[in-house]
Amino acid sequence: MTSTFEIAVFAGDGIGPEITDPTVKILQALSDRASGYTLQFTDAAAGAAHYAKTGESLPSASMETARRSDAILLSAMGLPDVRYADGTEISPQIDLRKALTLFAGVRPVTVRAGQSTPLNMPKGKEIDFVLIRESTEGLFYSQGHGEVTENEARETLLITRDISEKLFRFTFELANQRKAQGRGPGRVTCVDKANVFRAFAFFRDIFDAEAAKHPNLTADHAYVDATALWMVQKPWEFDVLVTENMFGDILSDLGAGLMGGLGLAPSADIGLDNAVFQPCHGSAPDIAGQGVANPFAMILSAAMMLDWLGIKHDNAEMAADGKRLREAVEAVVAEGKVLTRDLGGTAGTAEAATAVQAQLVLEVA
Ligand code: NAD
Repeated sequence: MTSTFEIAVFAGDGIGPEITDPTVKILQALSDRASGYTLQFTDAAAGAAHYAKTGESLPSASMETARRSDAILLSAMGLPDVRYADGTEISPQIDLRKALTLFAGVRPVTVRAGQSTPLNMPKGKEIDFVLIRESTEGLFYSQGHGEVTENEARETLLITRDISEKLFRFTFELANQRKAQGRGPGRVTCVDKANVFRAFAFFRDIFDAEAAKHPNLTADHAYVDATALWMVQKPWEFDVLVTENMFGDILSDLGAGLMGGLGLAPSADIGLDNAVFQPCHGSAPDIAGQGVANPFAMILSAAMMLDWLGIKHDNAEMAADGKRLREAVEAVVAEGKVLTRDLGGTAGTAEAATAVQAQLVLEVA
């Protein structure tokens, strides 16, 4: 039986539409060839350019499309020169995260043999770990509401039992899935600062309670400062890391650096009912309209979407297509012949996307 899945597509700002177009074409081609699933795409308007034109950054119709969709594919939003009256930037991707309670920010970090990385990798080692960043509270809780007086500034860090329990349940499930896929040993590390802050001792206690339910997985703890060191010294030893919002914000950029830059860093923001898949980079207005943007992070995000939908709906074909798509991008990157400028090559967006299609043996109209 073929199941149909509705995908809300936010093409966004700057390079957004340029990388969305080839990504949706690849997904459409996979869907056309699949016997067990069909993808239906619905465009949703939002972002800085939309705000400049209409005065609305995230129209309620787009929010409704996002809410009822099976998954949300988003490129990047925001333009530095388009701002609200209070001076802050238009960022519907953050509004979506809050409105849909997308607590688990999933940031995979992979470096395959042959891939360029600033690290001096020992022969035979590859990097393949996932950083999970709690994305609705932590030190971002008071975002925009910090107290500032003449002589003091305060921000509140919030960690709740409810969100932490959901976060750790999700984390251990993901470690189980990776283990089943042969991608990791089944090891989950709680990254915190429990030696200094009571809030992190609380976070760790909730982690330990969830860990006790998974005797088939290994659970351990690491302080965030040591984790930053080990991400540079021995990142191939990590499997699944889970951490607070601000720590995750910083460590995920370090992870992108290990992969050779933002152009290869995909992400997902996942809640109980909805999920957004998007590259970690922004709208890159400095290169927009030139056809040179790297589409790989967006295509890798689409691969994560297929994988997530496939596992959620018990659709093995869709999960397998997600794996194939990820491996196709990894193969093109490791081969190093068709790379965009940010990765040291000369290829444009279309050429890079075509190389992925060729690897998948897909013909895309
Ligand atoms: P950025 O990620 O857009 O760009 C940083 C640098 O990386 C630029 O030199 C850019 O050319 C390059 N770059 C980024 N993506 C690339 C790609 N796919 N291919 C090749 N090069 C790429 O960050 P920024 O300049 O700080 O932000 C630009 C706008 O994007 C801002 O308005 C910001 O608020 C917004 N933004 C949005 C998101 C999001 O939607 N999730 C994330 C970050 C920034």
